[in-house]
Amino acid sequence: MVSETFGASLWSAITAPATPYPQLAEDCEVDIIVVGAGYLGMNTAYQLAVSGLKVALIEATEPGFGASGRNTGFVVPTLKKALSPSSVVARFGEKRGEAFNAMIGGSGTHLFSLMRENRMDCAAEQTGWMQPAHSRSALAGCAAQVADWQQRGFSAELLDGAETERRTGMKGYHGAMLLSTGGQINPLAYARELARACVARGVRLFARSPVTDIVADGSRWIVKSANGQIRGGQVVLTTNAMVGKLCPKVDAAIIPTRSFQIATQRFGEDMQQRILSARSPIADSRRHLFAARWSPDGRIVGGGLVYPGPFRMARTRKRFEKRFQQFLPELGSVRAEYVWTGTVAVTLDALPRLFTLAPGLWAPIGCNGRGVALTAAFGRELANFLAGKVSADDFVVPITAPDPIPLRSFATLGPYFWLPYSEMKDRQETEIPA
Ligand SMILES: Cc1cc2nc3c(=O)[nH]c(=O)nc-3n(C[C@H](O)[C@H](O)[C@H](O)COP(=O)(O)OP(=O)(O)OC[C@H]3O[C@@H](n4cnc5c(N)ncnc54)[C@H](O)[C@@H]3O)c2cc1C
Repeated sequence: MVSETFGASLWSAITAPATPYPQLAEDCEVDIIVVGAGYLGMNTAYQLAVSGLKVALIEATEPGFGASGRNTGFVVPTLKKALSPSSVVARFGEKRGEAFNAMIGGSGTHLFSLMRENRMDCAAEQTGWMQPAHSRSALAGCAAQVADWQQRGFSAELLDGAETERRTGMKGYHGAMLLSTGGQINPLAYARELARACVARGVRLFARSPVTDIVADGSRWIVKSANGQIRGGQVVLTTNAMVGKLCPKVDAAIIPTRSFQIATQRFGEDMQQRILSARSPIADSRRHLFAARWSPDGRIVGGGLVYPGPFRMARTRKRFEKRFQQFLPELGSVRAEYVWTGTVAVTLDALPRLFTLAPGLWAPIGCNGRGVALTAAFGRELANFLAGKVSADDFVVPITAPDPIPLRSFATLGPYFWLPYSEMKDRQETEIPA
């Protein structure tokens, strides 16, 4: 059992306190009800309100309490390395695949302009996102992705080993993919600022109001919490990995996956000029990828999966301190001053979905580990669909009933096998450049 770590994160320590939004303590009526104030729920609610609809957003705890307030804050305008734009077209078909690619390729630009338009104070730095390559074949994969994005008119660059070392201060990479529309933010500050933007647009935001039930009322829906209920024409469940008993069908279609984060001790300006001096966050091409960034207060932040087994938090902390020292030896001795975890809903193919549960009851899910930029663009597309501006055929992802994942309970054992296997393969595949 891993204890609740929201308040233990670096982001909780350095972010202005949450605004106390009201609890739901009345009965009210709106056009659309959004359940869950993470990035996806808030972006959807925001865009629906921009379209002139009456929207209620109801949250169990506080905006950003889920993965949205705990992530690494990398703005990544692409999917994981195996999912190039061409492979998305192969899965979704030409029309939907290219619409999806346009959404994700433009997601960094969209997110940074949303933050600028709403004057969000969230340490946003559009410094690009980098994927350094640990082997020649990984570099060939980066080159193919770069070509794929460039062909579609998006900014993407292939850096050689020397330029990668110049930007990161790290030796041993063969080169890197650089997506200049990416960057980094303070994720919890963005969540809190997004909540403020929603309310400014007229969204009725209720906090500390867990939804306990959703029931049909003729052609409308009623969303219930302990002290009140909301009636609306459509309901959107954006509860991500926390969907649990509220909708077991959605829960059965995802794998809740816990990730671990550390923030080191603070380093001075001098170190910040030597390591990751371009301030582009990096997530390398390894299976168990090495990810790192500077925080606004001069710490290295990063993480990965929780190592399974007894005393797993303490063991994982040690493993990550060692990992940071190994990958960034210039740092010298590394001490994790903040340690926290967060959970995302993972889909088997790492692509998002829109589940239809009943007429007017929707569950968009599966931004996986790419939700910072993707949820902003996906929320905008969802709002267009829910407002009737886009047909189901033209929607960016397939709209399906939730598909239960076979033998899902075994999937939680994944890290026991996946982590040691991945780390072994990473060691075998890593090549020191000539
Ligand atoms: C440790 C970690 C690091 C990550 N790093 C990155 C990164 O660097 N870059 C990137 O792009 N992505 C990253 N991700 C993924 C990204 O954080 C997610 O994809 C994204 O935040 C998902 O947003 P969401 O709105 O779908 O879900 P969430 O943020 O999880 O929001 C769900 C919300 O629903 C609420 N809720 C649940 N049940 C109920 C209920 N019954 N009633 C009312 N409300 C309810 C929860 O309280 C929560 O606030 C990371 C994820 C983790 C966990």
